[in-house]
Amino acid sequence: MLPEQFIKRLCIIGVGLIGGSLARALRSAGVVAEIVGAGRDSTHLQKAQELGVIDRYVTDLRQAVQGADVVVLAVPLGAMESVLGAIAPFLEKNAILTDVGSAKGSVVQAVQKVFGKLPEHFVPAHPIAGTEKSGVEASFDSLFENRRVILTPTLASSEQSINKVKRMWQACGADVIQMGVEHHDEVLAATSHLPHMLAFALVDTLARMDDSQEIFDFAAGGFKDFTRIASSDPQMWHDICLANHDALVKALEAFSEDLM
Ligand code: NAP
Repeated sequence: MLPEQFIKRLCIIGVGLIGGSLARALRSAGVVAEIVGAGRDSTHLQKAQELGVIDRYVTDLRQAVQGADVVVLAVPLGAMESVLGAIAPFLEKNAILTDVGSAKGSVVQAVQKVFGKLPEHFVPAHPIAGTEKSGVEASFDSLFENRRVILTPTLASSEQSINKVKRMWQACGADVIQMGVEHHDEVLAATSHLPHMLAFALVDTLARMDDSQEIFDFAAGGFKDFTRIASSDPQMWHDICLANHDALVKALEAFSEDLM
């Protein structure tokens, strides 16, 4: 291990757009000695290995976290609790546990439920970077460069754990800031989750119109951005809406009132 490799074994559960880009960025930065990928589908993980994103993979989550000093959950929000349940008894004593979920309250609740407390090595995080694409093929190593990553440490998160997660994201070129969990969810509901709902709804409304073909044939400029955003993975956004339901409904109500 080289001296600057401050992560010995990184386990990424969910090697898709975000998990794959994190792996690529940390490898490019030379700060990780070994990257183990985990997920449900071995053909996806095989692809990730062929692309050089991960060193090896396992589909058994219990084996995946063995010997890992940092474990990153990069699965859809709806899968967080079941993945946590599968790994909790097998995490190394001092392993840092973090995630990349787009909403934070639901992940913190899931951790509290599975562990019966908030562990000192748990540091929730959310990179404010992404694209409308999914899967490891869409990942790239500069995704987080000059982008913000929000850490939402809990009262139990130790300084040492917070610093390690911060250092990990800084190695990817990100600007790391901290926020409270609830505040994060309100800010993101307004700046990201609401705009996605508007794009999905608008494109859906227009697609149902009789002359929809003509409308889409003439799509250009601003409307192209709406269709691009509305092509994001519906399952991921379904999970985000449910996970951040309270803050999103508040933002939707304020928007609807203004629109009226
Ligand atoms: P993605 O490209 O679809 O990747 C998700 C990965 O999770 C896939 O590799 C999938 O692999 C794996 N997975 C799904 N369900 C699983 C389960 N039950 N157990 C184990 N692995 C599972 O999605 P993504 O865009 O990277 O999003 C991942 C996380 O990042 C989400 O929590 C999302 O909220 C957050 N995020 C996304 C963006 C964005 O713009 N996309 C930005 C910031 C944060 P298999 O199908 O092979 O299991």
